Amino acid sequence: MKFVVVTGGVLSGLGKGISTSSIGVLLKSKGLKVSPVKIDPYLNVDAGTMNPYQHGEVFVLDDGSETDLDLGNYERFLDVNLGGDHNITTGKVYRAVIEKERRGDYLGRTVQIIPHITDEIKALLRAVGEKDRADIVLIEMGGTVGDIEGMPFLEAVRQLGQEVGKENVLYVHTTLVPVMGAVGEQKTKPTQQSVRELRASGIQPNVIIARGERSLEPDVKKKIAFFSDVPVEGVISAPDASSIYDVPLLFDGQGLTEYILKTLNLPVKEEDLKQWKAMLERLKNPEREVTIALVGKYTHLKDSYISHIEAFHHASAASRIKVNLRWVESMDIEKKGVKILEGADGILVPGGFGDRGIEGKIAATRYAADHDIPFQGVCLGFQLATVGFARETLGLKDANSSEFNPKTPYPVVDLLPEQRTVKDMGATMRLGAHEILLEENSKTAKLYGTATIFERHRHRYEINPDFIPKLEAAGLRYVGRSDGGRRMEVLELQGHPYFVASQFHPELRSRPFHPSPIHLGLVKAAAGKK
Ligand code: GLN
Repeated sequence: MKFVVVTGGVLSGLGKGISTSSIGVLLKSKGLKVSPVKIDPYLNVDAGTMNPYQHGEVFVLDDGSETDLDLGNYERFLDVNLGGDHNITTGKVYRAVIEKERRGDYLGRTVQIIPHITDEIKALLRAVGEKDRADIVLIEMGGTVGDIEGMPFLEAVRQLGQEVGKENVLYVHTTLVPVMGAVGEQKTKPTQQSVRELRASGIQPNVIIARGERSLEPDVKKKIAFFSDVPVEGVISAPDASSIYDVPLLFDGQGLTEYILKTLNLPVKEEDLKQWKAMLERLKNPEREVTIALVGKYTHLKDSYISHIEAFHHASAASRIKVNLRWVESMDIEKKGVKILEGADGILVPGGFGDRGIEGKIAATRYAADHDIPFQGVCLGFQLATVGFARETLGLKDANSSEFNPKTPYPVVDLLPEQRTVKDMGATMRLGAHEILLEENSKTAKLYGTATIFERHRHRYEINPDFIPKLEAAGLRYVGRSDGGRRMEVLELQGHPYFVASQFHPELRSRPFHPSPIHLGLVKAAAGKK
């Protein structure tokens, strides 16, 4: 088992996750089994209680783990389903060590960051790779080199390198090369300083990935190679790309794949990027375009909806229909009215928590229903489509979710009885992949091509079964259910060209080669409408 460690320098937001995922794609293309791990040096045990405004979307895995959105990048790029052990946080590491200390595992000894915390980190990294029978454990370090909270992790991966030997570990450092002044000179000083910081932790990089607007000038490449003590082949340009799926090819084109294999003393096999290139070719050469309005409440931070953005890219690659997303803040619908949705070929109301912007989202579901505009609802969007229908079509004026109005006379969305007594925020959510049974003749079963599906969840509230008979009689059909039929999972509005909403999140399992069927259905319906 070998290790590739990706660290970040200069500043955050350099696309380290995409660089890591892209390296994974290249290694996989050479027939190697890659096991990606994200290290998040924050004290939270997991990302479950974190606000999307700070860190972007909370990504949910099959096993119900709530993780950093980079896990989503790994799954999409490598086409794998990961478990929670692929996301290591300071919270998890310290909790494990403190539990051991309390149990008496370290009896008589002083428990310290070195060696106990660093040993725990190394053990976790090895365990993931062994469980996966990986050829390569691909480790991405969150944060920036020099952060105090990242130090135990840097020290752990330094020790790891020492233990496994030079041929078995490769350190990749991502930096920024800004362009300054009227002449547009590429500046290497931030990279120099960041490499010096990394070396101060005892780590000598093998690869420098230099982010910048443009590719590095040959002289700049040489200069970076010279002061970082890295061969010129190890200095890789990462210029702005029109698609994240370009990045593996950009790296490969500079010889990175061969360089990594050589450095790790791995046999060079025939590479297979054919499927990847074909996908990219379809994505970049659309035959038609549609505009989809995404009605959200975190629209200022696009990372809050990254899995939807990617699911639409996957749908575009499958259909050759380009999706232009129109970002609509649901509060703006409340202020300016639904007319701001005019001209959209389709509407998506995604998931969310909290009551800000709820009425705007409900209005969007009604606008789609009343004007035959293709519509997709996800999680909160599914719940609110039900609320809107109950109000308008059933005439239950104050219908609501008890999440937003605990006193509503018509709680069409409510907690299931067993959840009403639970108070601990971390424990009440229904999480992860569950089996869903679809009605054979439903639109959704046709989209999936099967009546039994597995999709991921993250919610507390459910459609209240007491209201189902009335809702269905009036034309809102619950065609997907789970848990012995107790939980509603998919709804379809009868007589509408495309009105499909799900309690689960189909965007989380969408992949470049297996797009989310409901997103793809929306895109096709939106194109059909034009
Ligand atoms: N807030 C809703 C619930 O808890 C929806 C959650 C979501 O959209 N992820 O059920």
